[in-house]
Amino acid sequence: MTAAGAPQWRGIIEEYREWLPITADTPVVTLREGGTPLVRSETLSAETGCDVWLKYDGANPTGSFKDRGMTLAISKAIEEGAKAVVCASTGNTSASAAAYAAKAALTCAVLVPKGKIALGKMAQTLVHGARVLEVDGNFDAALELAKDLADRYPVTLVNSVNRFRLEGQKTAAFEICDALARAPDLHLVPVGNAGNISSHWLGYSDYLEAGVIHEPPRLFGFQAKGAAPIVLGEPVKDPQTIATAIRIGNPASWEKALSAAKESEGAILAVTDREILAAYRRVAREGLFAEPASAASVAGLLHLHAEGNLTADATVVCVLTGHGLKDPEWAIAGAAQPQTVRGDPAAVATELGL
Ligand SMILES: *Cc1c(COP(=O)(O)O)cnc(C)c1O
Repeated sequence: MTAAGAPQWRGIIEEYREWLPITADTPVVTLREGGTPLVRSETLSAETGCDVWLKYDGANPTGSFKDRGMTLAISKAIEEGAKAVVCASTGNTSASAAAYAAKAALTCAVLVPKGKIALGKMAQTLVHGARVLEVDGNFDAALELAKDLADRYPVTLVNSVNRFRLEGQKTAAFEICDALARAPDLHLVPVGNAGNISSHWLGYSDYLEAGVIHEPPRLFGFQAKGAAPIVLGEPVKDPQTIATAIRIGNPASWEKALSAAKESEGAILAVTDREILAAYRRVAREGLFAEPASAASVAGLLHLHAEGNLTADATVVCVLTGHGLKDPEWAIAGAAQPQTVRGDPAAVATELGL
């Protein structure tokens, strides 16, 4: 291989270095995350009367936006001399932590709620060589345990309470503004532990302060109805939703998410699992396979539209946070069964009505 060749996207640290808390001495651990597609949805635009764009963060190296935060968290952990990292996870944080720790040759331990991790996410975590410890309890209990462990032992916590995670994740907002040459009017995102919405507000605020954009978007976060502590105003003891990535009853970034919604004149709202699944199938029929939790943003868009809360011609971005292959169960459950056909073109053509 020669050194020459077409330039490729360098990963969020190199692309947005001056906006991030790093120095010339920070070792950059990257899998060239970020630079994900912003895809216009013709059908959602037509239906809502808005200009609707889907930010497909499922196209990150491990298939979720978590990589944007993990490249920074792991780079800073290395800079600070860490030998091991730990996280609690509903699946995507562990997949991402495992991959970046592998890249950096760090030991990685993940605490997951027993029996609650989607197969694809577990496969990723294991194949990258992380130690997986199952905890009897939900995500919230696993996070408390991980925090406790990091307080007492020489191990760095890489959940989104690690401030470098949010700093990295804010680059999604930068990419959206750079692609549209302005901020959208509305920015819709699923909410679980509430780090991502907080980080996006940080990104828009940075760009606003620097004069790169002149108006920030209104931020709308969507929780699943059975796991909607922020909407209810109190923690949910036993959160329930098919959208496992947002099955969280006591979000770590609760206050930050509330401020993001308030300062941007948006809101944190709830959508039902039925709405989430309908949105999930819908974006898949447009060629983007996003996991159920991701579809909460599109479910939210349709929800706002149904309630007459969208302004015509508004530019709207829905963030699709994770890849559908991580949790394919719902894709198969809702689809037609494959049919068997004789191995001859005429039979196939008849079956297809050609
Ligand atoms: C982590 C995750 C979320 C929730 O993000 P928070 O920062 O916890 O609010 C949503 N969707 C997917 C696919 C995720 O991996």
